[in-house]
Amino acid sequence: MLKIYNTSSRKKENFKPRTKNKVNIFVCGPTVYDYPHIGHARTYIAFDMIVKYLKQKGYNVFYLQNITDVDNKIIIRAKEERTFWKNLARKFEREYLKDMRKLNINSVNKYARATAHIKEIINQVKRLLKNGFAYRIKDGIYYDISKFKDYGKLSGRTVLQAEDAVSRIDEAEEKRNKGDFCLWKKSKPGEPNWKSPWFSGRPGWHIEDTAITEKYFGFQYDIHGGARDLIFPHHEAEIAQMEAISGKSPMVKYWLHSGFLTVKGEKMAKSLGNFITIKDFLKENSPRLLRLFVIKTHYRSPIDYSEKEIEQVKNQLERIDEFVEKFTTYPPDFACERTRWRAGNLQLTTEKRTVKSLILQTKKEFEKAMEDDFNTPKAIASIFELISQGNSLMNKNVLSQTEAKNILEFLKKIDRFFNFIFWKKPKEKISENILKLVEEREKYRKQKNWEKADEVRKEINKIGYKIEDTKKGPKIKPVSID
Ligand code: AMP
Repeated sequence: MLKIYNTSSRKKENFKPRTKNKVNIFVCGPTVYDYPHIGHARTYIAFDMIVKYLKQKGYNVFYLQNITDVDNKIIIRAKEERTFWKNLARKFEREYLKDMRKLNINSVNKYARATAHIKEIINQVKRLLKNGFAYRIKDGIYYDISKFKDYGKLSGRTVLQAEDAVSRIDEAEEKRNKGDFCLWKKSKPGEPNWKSPWFSGRPGWHIEDTAITEKYFGFQYDIHGGARDLIFPHHEAEIAQMEAISGKSPMVKYWLHSGFLTVKGEKMAKSLGNFITIKDFLKENSPRLLRLFVIKTHYRSPIDYSEKEIEQVKNQLERIDEFVEKFTTYPPDFACERTRWRAGNLQLTTEKRTVKSLILQTKKEFEKAMEDDFNTPKAIASIFELISQGNSLMNKNVLSQTEAKNILEFLKKIDRFFNFIFWKKPKEKISENILKLVEEREKYRKQKNWEKADEVRKEINKIGYKIEDTKKGPKIKPVSID
């Protein structure tokens, strides 16, 4: 049974969707004012993996994500760039979606722009004014957090503690409580604006999410995700808005929050200037490397970015690739095996049992880990155990082709949600120059001139390739698989 850590209850709970096997999940999308960085990728890869895992388990999942395309940051950046805010937002939305495609983040069923839901936003604000949770002042409509008795139930904060968490759009002198947040802001000349029953304005930060989720899911749904910085005030505000409108609780059954990607312990963020855009990262590294880099850590734990860590992931990916290649090209050796079976080779019998139990054991450990709040570090550890034991069995020549195939089938299945094992690599064209060196080395080897052969091998290594001597002859591979 799948267990999921719920931020709301602060414990792991059995996962049971609200209706049969239908799962509605909403994850906060990006504010599109700049190129996304690998901190964003951390969160969206984690949720892509989670959604794909749920789909693989047979759940009928609908994954909804908003795109914040109207916001202070967008307005400011557009002014700096002397461009129209909408053009800027569309440009970075395209960049975001391009990066997501490159990373194989393709589980989102619907991307919903804030500006395409102004009618729904106004409708929610109207209801909050009507039932007394919202009030109107000179520059906007605000939510009165003192009216919502459960305010702080997700984050454990009190109304007073909410005071220091307002963002720029929430600032207004006339507010009733310092922590009150804006639902609808009067637009200044030149700012994006939409007609409303009150004044020409634009939405606050939190209201687009509840307006969008109400439209697609209704008042209550299964999972809400985002990185942990959104727990307060953003997700707390969402609860206050939706539950005040509907009178139904809880708005969300399971709250999932991902950990940060950090640099030297600090959150990777635009404002801190310690970021690497996904675009730049992918100039040097493969998308699958970024996926493994993210997935090898538990989604709730922080990941500290460093070159050393990236190197380690490269090596792990190389180990996986070598294993897959060996197993894919593994030759059937039934004749030899049958002879040894007939001879009643006791050792072989034992090893045969080992193969079977190895696959079973790996499957068991892998599943156990994934069912325990998507414990990917443990799940991946079981894969590396399979690789090392599988390699050793293959070297002893006791694997049948069917068994090798079974192992590959298992890896293919898990790669439906991991997406870093069977990534289609562009075919590497080996240059004439390298082929000549390989030939030369073969000539020396035939002459048993090991010293010369080794010199040529080193030369090949320097150009970035390595040679593996197999029964079928030398195999050439790029030293880095990326
Ligand atoms: P933003 O575009 O800033 O609204 O962020 C979009 C999503 O990415 C939110 O869920 C953020 O919490 C998340 N996010 C931003 N920076 C990081 C980071 N360094 N690590 C993990 N998630 C992040």
